[in-house]
Amino acid sequence: MKTTRHGDHLAQLTRFPRLFPVNCYLVRDDDGLTLIDTAIAGSAPAILAAAAALGAPIVRIALTHAHVDHVGALDALHAALPDAEVLVPAREARFLAGDLSLDPAESQAKLRGGWPTCTTRPTRLLAPGDRVGALAVVAAPGHTPGHVAFLDTRDRALIAGDAFQTRGGLAVAGILRPTFPFPALATWHPPTALASARALRALRPRLLAVGHGTLLPDPKAAMDRAIAVAGRRWPEAAYGA
Ligand SMILES: [Zn+2]
Repeated sequence: MKTTRHGDHLAQLTRFPRLFPVNCYLVRDDDGLTLIDTAIAGSAPAILAAAAALGAPIVRIALTHAHVDHVGALDALHAALPDAEVLVPAREARFLAGDLSLDPAESQAKLRGGWPTCTTRPTRLLAPGDRVGALAVVAAPGHTPGHVAFLDTRDRALIAGDAFQTRGGLAVAGILRPTFPFPALATWHPPTALASARALRALRPRLLAVGHGTLLPDPKAAMDRAIAVAGRRWPEAAYGA
């Protein structure tokens, strides 16, 4: 895996950086590393090697959402790191356990993308407002119903999962980028993703780190442009709703 370090706390790990980039992240904390997402199946050895190169143990595995390219190596990593906490957004934990039903209060839009069942069970269910070490858990539904992002409260790096993509040009989830259409094709409810994009922008991130594509420093102006594009596409999405 390609490792891209940013500042003192963050390392981006990328499978297939040229062809089909899939990112996960190692965040350094006082007691070790937090792994955000696990990339595709087969990534565990490379993730463990990247952590070893950073010289710290992985003490937590946290997920943004339960799509196959974010949970693919979860079971293998849990087997290798049985003492690491497993932190899963509560709404996404149901998908991870094989229950793909939608709640009555949710949009009944079709779930898209790949949803594998994992045998690993969360040690803690995450809700927006929770803390994961130095990271704050932020609601970011739309790409999937229970998607969350993580804001590093030390340097305002935002690990946004698939709420945005940067590969093919910065875009809000659901806006199709022809050279990398897969995140849009896997998005559940774009108007909800647009509302989440506005909420994430309001956090004033200093770095945007996404599931697919390179790191984007000082992303606020680019996020504004991407949100404007999505706002013209889904004008019915209430501002900030
Ligand atoms: Zn996804």
